[in-house]
Amino acid sequence: MRKPVIAGNWKMYKLIGDAVSTALALRPLVSNANHCEIVIAPPFTALKVVADRLEGSNIQVAGQDCATETKHGAHTGEIAANMLLDAGATHVIIGHSERRQHYCESDTFVQRKIQAAVATGLTAIMCVGESLAQREAGTAESVVKGQLNGGLRGLTATDLNRIMIAYEPVWAIGTGRTATPDQAQEMHSFVRGIFNEKFGGEASERLRILYGGSVKPDNIASLMTAPDIDGALVGGASLDAESFAGIVHYNG
Ligand code: PEP
Repeated sequence: MRKPVIAGNWKMYKLIGDAVSTALALRPLVSNANHCEIVIAPPFTALKVVADRLEGSNIQVAGQDCATETKHGAHTGEIAANMLLDAGATHVIIGHSERRQHYCESDTFVQRKIQAAVATGLTAIMCVGESLAQREAGTAESVVKGQLNGGLRGLTATDLNRIMIAYEPVWAIGTGRTATPDQAQEMHSFVRGIFNEKFGGEASERLRILYGGSVKPDNIASLMTAPDIDGALVGGASLDAESFAGIVHYNG
């Protein structure tokens, strides 16, 4: 049985005070949720204080990105995976479509970041997903396959324990246009099939594949009925503690 994961991506929202108050409001709302793992990704500036304030809770903390480099050095503006770990993170989001689109992150970059994350002991939440134009052109699967092949290059069987995939169709992110459970299931099953080919049946059965794209408290339950959807990566609806708690409690 794969334990579901509900992860919140706060993107470039929240000053430190707001981040702390949201985390503290969330803590009691989800303290009895044992059916899933809960992760939130505050901005870098709030990561350490949020992680400290959540110590002893069932909420884990993620970075939203990390550097390709693992050794400290002259990399202005970058945050290394071990700095995230040092600040209290257990996870890191890598290859989000906003980084691929607006910050020119290639599959090679994503691959190097994943290597850096897993070598450091973080769990990487690797994002993949096609644009609307690619879906309409019928190339969604080949796009996702290319992202997986590029990003996962060089991973060993042990590294796979530290990898989750988030399927996030770009056309569903922040648009209110959620993929239907059937659309998401189709791609999740395709992703699991690729893992099966690359890493074998056991690794593919263990892999958690999260869906992301306009997940809300009122659509999460139907998404979670799909057999290959193992959780969600949530943007907008994770910014409010009650709304995110409503997603965590998708099981009623
Ligand atoms: C995201 O940014 O990862 C995301 C899924 O955003 P939203 O839930 O707002 O669509």
